[in-house]
Amino acid sequence: MAYQTINPYTGKTVKTYDFISDGDLETALASAHALYKKWKASDALAERISQLRRLAAVLRRNEEQYAKIITGEVGKIISESRGEVELSASIAEYYADHGEEFMAPVPVPTASGRAYYLKQSTGVIFAVEPWNFPFYQVMRVFAPNFIAGNTMLLKHASICPSSAQAFEDAVKEAGIEEGAFKNLFISYDQVSKAIADPRISGVCLTGSERGGASVASEAGKALKKSSMELGGNDAFIILDDADMDVVKRMIAPARLYNAGQVCASSKRFIVTEKNYDRFVSDLIDVFSQVKLGDPMDENTTMGPLSSAQAKKDVLDAIDAGIRAGAQVLYGNKPVNHPGNFVMPTILTGITRDNPLYNKEVFGPVGEVFKVRDEEEAIALANDSSYGLGSTVFSRDLDRAQAAARRIEAGMTIINAPCLTQPDLPFGGVKNSGYGRELAELGFYTFLNEHMVYVPESK
Ligand code: NAP
Repeated sequence: MAYQTINPYTGKTVKTYDFISDGDLETALASAHALYKKWKASDALAERISQLRRLAAVLRRNEEQYAKIITGEVGKIISESRGEVELSASIAEYYADHGEEFMAPVPVPTASGRAYYLKQSTGVIFAVEPWNFPFYQVMRVFAPNFIAGNTMLLKHASICPSSAQAFEDAVKEAGIEEGAFKNLFISYDQVSKAIADPRISGVCLTGSERGGASVASEAGKALKKSSMELGGNDAFIILDDADMDVVKRMIAPARLYNAGQVCASSKRFIVTEKNYDRFVSDLIDVFSQVKLGDPMDENTTMGPLSSAQAKKDVLDAIDAGIRAGAQVLYGNKPVNHPGNFVMPTILTGITRDNPLYNKEVFGPVGEVFKVRDEEEAIALANDSSYGLGSTVFSRDLDRAQAAARRIEAGMTIINAPCLTQPDLPFGGVKNSGYGRELAELGFYTFLNEHMVYVPESK
């Protein structure tokens, strides 16, 4: 697919970007690999830490400019785009702050001498990223690898090329060395070629199961370490003793942020009988307060979906669900605007044989399930091929944490919506992928834990 910025609110094509040639790809690989080797031969950690701080400062200085690029390209409301740029700056700062500590050798206990492992860079990391957070997703990979001494090549989504270019420009403006980061407008064939290249030491993708399976198999064929951050249909579990005022406040951030196009947003609301009527009424109230409109307008609370295809996919999924017996509690009406709008929609009555039951709907759709008790809630949450995030609401924090331990997911948040921050690891299990990004765990993904052993002299 061609790389194009199409404004999701107006439908106008703003800019088209040409694919790069194989020669350009070779130049990028050579430059990234040369810098990796140069860093290997020197101790440039302190310099990289200060460069990463400069990148955080550039992001903050130009926040409004970047936010407008993101909103004009993927349709999220302008305040969310500003928040994304700030979050990206804080990830850069987090890894700058912890760089020395995370790179320190780790002693390995042994009775037979002295052992430790070094944390060493491995080469060039190839990252394939999605459009729903065009800066944040890239920073999650760039910051830890840059500190560790790995360089990075990016294949961004074909619908957010202007954001990809803006990120690269920010890296340049921060004075970061040539070769540390390069955005590539490349085809799927060139992605396969790059992954097979011996200079690439690791591959990561954030995106759909389909994209993940394809890129992971290319990485597997070439014996490259990989990390996959894929989709989810996260459960939002409301136990009998939940504080329903808190629950109501969390509905919008949990499901409507970025018009519902968030991997770890709560796609399945699982409510025990006791709170069902109250919850459904609150859900309808929250969804009906949404103000659809121009995402650049500060008064809009939800913008269009990212593309005409994204809108079609969501509407098709709702239709298929209804055909299989789901009922519409709210929404599912056409929006009288040429932008890619989908009215926030609430569905119930989704049975196990409904195609929605085990599907990720990537838009403002809330699915509600009534269950008898906690046991049934957890069984339903786990009856999914995904396992990304989850949330549990209960006034009893011990009970909520005990429930969290039983949920088959990479993340559980108690009494709050899905969220992300630099110091919390992010990732899933099952078809939601493998590996972790962010925090200390995310730092090690593409490192060599190089063991050194000095046996006791006899
Ligand atoms: P997608 O189609 O898989 O696209 C994601 C990226 O992969 C894009 O850059 C895409 O390029 C590329 N891609 C897809 N197939 C490829 C192939 N065969 N070879 C090379 N590159 C390929 O995903 P999406 O539907 O746009 O994104 C939304 C999905 O991402 C949702 O499922 C969401 O849950 C998931 N997501 C997960 C996380 C997480 O951390 N777990 C975070 C955000 C989003 P093109 O654009 O050129 O096709």
